[in-house]
Amino acid sequence: MTVLLVEDHRELAQWLATELRHAGWAPEIASTAADARHRVRQRSYDVLLVDIGLPDGDGIALCRDLRAMTDAPLLMVTARQDVEDRVRALDSGADDYLAKPFAVDELLARMRAIRRRHHHDDGPILECGPLRVWVEERRAEVAGAPLALSRREFDLLAVLMRHPGRVYTREALLEAAWGYDFYGESNVVDVTVRRLRGRIAEAAGIELEAVRGVGYRLASPPPP
Ligand code: CA
Repeated sequence: MTVLLVEDHRELAQWLATELRHAGWAPEIASTAADARHRVRQRSYDVLLVDIGLPDGDGIALCRDLRAMTDAPLLMVTARQDVEDRVRALDSGADDYLAKPFAVDELLARMRAIRRRHHHDDGPILECGPLRVWVEERRAEVAGAPLALSRREFDLLAVLMRHPGRVYTREALLEAAWGYDFYGESNVVDVTVRRLRGRIAEAAGIELEAVRGVGYRLASPPPP
């Protein structure tokens, strides 16, 4: 079982890696947010363990980006006992959090727990109201009828459907659907979102909402 350990404190990272190895995990260390993004793009991990304080950016922003790139369960390590940080961690896509200092046994228990939950919760099918997506098969249906989407529309939808109601930034969507870092003027995400929005609104009655200055989210479906 592989774990990506995103931690800039070298001694702490080494010590945790040793403990994880003893517990049967195969840890890899990333010491910056950029390194973490790079690694997650290259391969998949069973668990992501992300420190909130990183030298090249906030762990919260990283968490949001990683969430758009992978389904792997993510445990955020916060340095502070701050309720706001915990809330931000969970809102940005972390499955759980742990405040420093923590006991290794608690860390291991939480890693096992999020992994277990993840396996029970996440089938290969994503659902939002009448809309269902088979990510591996690249197939979408609305109430049983096939929904034809372009490649990029499908990629965007598959990301947004991982967590209906959660806001994904343009950068995160671009990264997930186009697969490269892009911080320029291009409105390729907006254009594709607009087309996708029309299709799913018409076919499934689901709103794809723009959140001003942030990004986009799939409106949570009304309760059945
Ligand atoms: Ca740190």
